[in-house]
Amino acid sequence: MTRRRWIADTWDEATASLTGEQATHLIRVLRAQPGMEFDIVAGDRVYHAVIAGITGDSVRFNLVAEIPAEPALPVTLLLAVFKFDRMEWAIEKATELGVARIVPVITRRAEKHLVRSAPGRVERWRRIAHESAKQSRRSDIPVIEDALPLKTAAAREDDAVKLVLAEQERSTTLRGALEEALKITGDDFPEIRLAIGPEGGWAAEEEAIFDDAGWKPVSLGPRILRAETAAITALAVVASLLE
Ligand code: SAM
Repeated sequence: MTRRRWIADTWDEATASLTGEQATHLIRVLRAQPGMEFDIVAGDRVYHAVIAGITGDSVRFNLVAEIPAEPALPVTLLLAVFKFDRMEWAIEKATELGVARIVPVITRRAEKHLVRSAPGRVERWRRIAHESAKQSRRSDIPVIEDALPLKTAAAREDDAVKLVLAEQERSTTLRGALEEALKITGDDFPEIRLAIGPEGGWAAEEEAIFDDAGWKPVSLGPRILRAETAAITALAVVASLLE
């Protein structure tokens, strides 16, 4: 049986609570009553839960049994800031596909008004990821970081496999690069970082930044994809190899 899933605002080892918009929806629209059963995501765990009580605008659940949770893909997406409606779509779909973290990045060719408005959009992007995680029955919500300049985001030091999606790359495909990485790490899935450029593509100095920071350019094939299509396709390729 498929139970509707909620993401707890607060929880301990035996109970969880919803407050705010989720609780209002549950109380007013779904007419919450004690005894009704749902799935509750509490931190990185998922539980079968039963409503224990409703107080004002908050709903309290007893956690009945833990349900096995699906891990996120070990992928951080550096997503260039581009037209907000399409970017929101990309965030929603990337969440459905299991991305663990999205870093919105400010790139040289980003439109100026988008760059100015990006910091004020982050909370909205987080809400979109939250809703999408709930809808797609994820057991966690991807982290949406504050927007960062590309240079800062690309320079982060770690052991991740770092792949920059580049439409002019002809020899190395994303799939080929991932298969090579998996040959080395075996069953230990590596952390993967993918960077998707803006509508105008990467500027030459950005390609140099990636190169200096150890990123490898990879292709998704001979056609030029829109940024949101590239983001979704890249995640689907990762999922097809890791899941
Ligand atoms: N420079 C391009 C132009 O205007 O002709 C378009 C850039 S494309 C719309 C946006 C981003 O999607 C690129 O920076 C790249 O990260 C990714 N992308 C699009 N098509 C791709 C492909 N075939 N292979 C790899 N990445 C691709």
